[in-house]
Amino acid sequence: MKPDAEGFLYPTVQLSACVHCNACNQVCPMELKMPQSASNVPAFAAYATDSDIRQSSSSGGIFSLIAQRILEQGGVIFGAAFDADFSVRHQMVASTESLNALRGSKYVQSRTEDTFRNAEILLKSGKMVLFTGVACQIAGLKAFLHRDYPNLYTMDVLCHGVPSPAIWKAYLSDQCRIHGSSVKSVSFREKSTGWKQFSMKISFKNGKTYCQSHDEDAFMRLFLENICLRPACHSCRFKAFPRASDLTLGDAWGIDDVLPEMDDDFGTSVVLINSEKGQWMLDQVEACMVCKPESMDRLLPETADSRRPVSPHPRRSLLFRAAKRGATVKKMLSVLKGNPARRLLGAGMRLIQQHTNRTL
Ligand SMILES: Cc1cc2nc3c(=O)[nH]c(=O)nc-3n(C[C@H](O)[C@H](O)[C@H](O)COP(=O)(O)OP(=O)(O)OC[C@H]3O[C@@H](n4cnc5c(N)ncnc54)[C@H](O)[C@@H]3O)c2cc1C
Repeated sequence: MKPDAEGFLYPTVQLSACVHCNACNQVCPMELKMPQSASNVPAFAAYATDSDIRQSSSSGGIFSLIAQRILEQGGVIFGAAFDADFSVRHQMVASTESLNALRGSKYVQSRTEDTFRNAEILLKSGKMVLFTGVACQIAGLKAFLHRDYPNLYTMDVLCHGVPSPAIWKAYLSDQCRIHGSSVKSVSFREKSTGWKQFSMKISFKNGKTYCQSHDEDAFMRLFLENICLRPACHSCRFKAFPRASDLTLGDAWGIDDVLPEMDDDFGTSVVLINSEKGQWMLDQVEACMVCKPESMDRLLPETADSRRPVSPHPRRSLLFRAAKRGATVKKMLSVLKGNPARRLLGAGMRLIQQHTNRTL
């Protein structure tokens, strides 16, 4: 896997060693036939009753509840965790004490590296495996495995797209320079400012802390404006339901309207059941959560960015050009608004057009 100029990893083939067996194309999730038309699946709003779990999870903490049950039954969990340099990589966890590493959304593309192969070895040995990730990663795992395993459980998190690891790296290096220290911990979803008004929180080794609301933080603004997503995310084929995973988790953002009694601004998950195994996983944690069934379209409207591909920001290429020049992430933010002179010119042109239309 090699990064392109935007920092996204792509597979490369060493042509001199290639025997043209076509095996790589056969396991490529981009070559899979996926359901295109959306259909409804059983849906629930849910949150963990344990407030510590909820506090350290992005939405309602349902991932942690399910993962804990699998661990108690002798299984292992694969999911996204920070590396020592705060890049994001899939890792395997075999104990409750280590589960915290997988907890919480990391808004960067996670490198799956050798985890598909390691999961296959464990599955063949009869071990119970819960593999988690975004929808395309679960589809990729299933294509790689070629066959179903009764001991494999899969879970995806709703995703509208993954931002560039290179922009994340540039952001972190700006933060370290500004705060004069290396990073100790990162939370993309700090809830002390509320679940809906969540913040980016970075703790530094010199004791300093950065905490900024998601609509003010530079990285979160670039991410949420869809200006630094992987190009394939703009034509994502993995968003329809039922998905390749057994169960899908996401944020129940509209919960205050749909089921106000399930909203205390501490995080509520939307849980979508794609298979019998998915229903089994949810049943396993029944005693540790508050959970209510609701129609899928009400909990996750068809217009949600996690149900249909999002359009790229019109200035996407300008952003990556600025990144290539080594611009700071704060400077990259100005790309969102455009050049002031051009904005003025655009406003002038619009005025002239309006005037011309009126006189015509
Ligand atoms: C890139 C990305 C985009 C998202 N976009 C949306 C969205 O548009 N709408 C929405 O409702 N929800 C979105 N989510 C999901 C949401 O943020 C929560 O992850 C989800 O609600 C589960 O929360 P939880 O409290 O149950 O568990 P948490 O403990 O918060 O989540 C842990 C789970 O997330 C997985 N995970 C964390 N980071 C990554 C990553 N980079 N790649 C793959 N898997 C990861 C872990 O492997 C683990 O399974 C997104 C998540 C990611 C990672």
